Amino acid sequence: MSDLHLLDIYQLADKLNKKEISAVELRQEFFARIAKFNPEIGAFLRTTETDEAEKSDARRAKGEVLSLLDGIAMAHKDLFCTAGVVTTAGSKMLANFTPSHTATIAEKLANAGAVMLGKLSMDEFAMGSSNEHSAFGVVKNPWNTAKIPGGSSGGSAAAVAARLVPYATGSDTGGSIRQPASYCGVTGIKPTYGVCSRWGMIAYASSLDQAGVIATTAADCALVLEKMAGRDERDSTCAPNKSYDFTTYLNRDLEGVKIGLPKIYFEKLDPKIAKQIQAAARQYEELGAKIVDIDLENSDIAIAAYYIIASAEASSNLSRYDGVRYGYRAENPKNLDDLYRRSRNEGFGAEVKRRILLGTYALSAGYYDAYYEQARRGRRAILNSFKKAFSACDVILAPTTPTVAFDIGSKTSDPVEMYLSDLFTVAVNLAGLPGLAHPCGFVDEMPVGCQLIGSHFAESRILNLAHKYQQVTDFHRQVPAKFR
Ligand code: GLN
Repeated sequence: MSDLHLLDIYQLADKLNKKEISAVELRQEFFARIAKFNPEIGAFLRTTETDEAEKSDARRAKGEVLSLLDGIAMAHKDLFCTAGVVTTAGSKMLANFTPSHTATIAEKLANAGAVMLGKLSMDEFAMGSSNEHSAFGVVKNPWNTAKIPGGSSGGSAAAVAARLVPYATGSDTGGSIRQPASYCGVTGIKPTYGVCSRWGMIAYASSLDQAGVIATTAADCALVLEKMAGRDERDSTCAPNKSYDFTTYLNRDLEGVKIGLPKIYFEKLDPKIAKQIQAAARQYEELGAKIVDIDLENSDIAIAAYYIIASAEASSNLSRYDGVRYGYRAENPKNLDDLYRRSRNEGFGAEVKRRILLGTYALSAGYYDAYYEQARRGRRAILNSFKKAFSACDVILAPTTPTVAFDIGSKTSDPVEMYLSDLFTVAVNLAGLPGLAHPCGFVDEMPVGCQLIGSHFAESRILNLAHKYQQVTDFHRQVPAKFR
């Protein structure tokens, strides 16, 4: 095996360009790594053999390269529908679901020349923070296989961390890109709500769900996200911008950029993690940024507001899985009611059932005002707090997670404990803001990530910051020993 897996997208594109390698060879390299390493970490649920690499090589031979992503191997989180390829969302409910359509973001990447190698594991319907709530097995963290990779895009983060693909798609409803990226020592971005189309992405909580990308560098994230983003008539919540430019400003000078550190996020933070985030702040300072302390009011209500809103939307979205139209169907039902009950009971896992129950309760007639309406007001207050914070700074620097990746099995019996690992990520989704996580150190031999939060549509700013940081640090180049 060569060292190709250690290269980022720009470096691989250069090799393809110089004809030092072909897309077919590149695919072979990564397939060989997946065959060798995936059994140990379980990031891929399945691999897919397409003719995309051959087509890419043919285009290149004719000088018709589509983009820097042309011929580069990648994989999708298994909640993006891919026509003709089983798409499960990590659920038994969809174990045999073969969509007839391809998600807009997957189609856009294919149109840019992406070569799909397979589909990646995730928590069932993207509900979870550890990838332990998957119907198809727990994914292991490549840095220590006794630890969780994070969730719900755990397969995406683990696959990139183990260098089984240069990049992967993910989705983030309450942290599912940033949190696993941090636990696995890779870089991930969740854009502003509406930048990427949600069409063809299996819904969890529609007002919070956004697609995004996990890669090894911020520059790669910018490149991929730029191709995924843009208006789609099939998703009415998609922002009007037809295209985005995330790459032109990657090298912008950071002189005078004001970075806010929310004091409240550091109050109860593990001092070892806090030290790494503060070190990142100092590095940004050396790059010319100005660090200021900021208030971020209402941070204490984010988890409660998020889990009510997300569960409420989930209970509505998941009602489509009734055993009739598509998905799992119970055998030999006695009547229609029995069909509904048993299909859902047998098809959904425990965490998904918990969310449906919570959400249905929060929306029920007697409790709507007390829970859902209250959570909506909280959401609005959180948005206002961010707006206020952005009047004092350009970008917010925060921890991504309260701890480093925890032991497999250590939080599965206590759902609230699991929910609390999303302490620093959910507010960003409630406010619809862009958030990026990048590695910034190690604690107890596990990676730590910090989080950059931008104002609405400020993706290019947070990508710019992370890129500059990665020019002078090498945390993002660290690869777990076993996978080098
Ligand atoms: N951990 C959060 C949840 O379970 C966030 C998941 C996500 O972003 N998809 O809801």
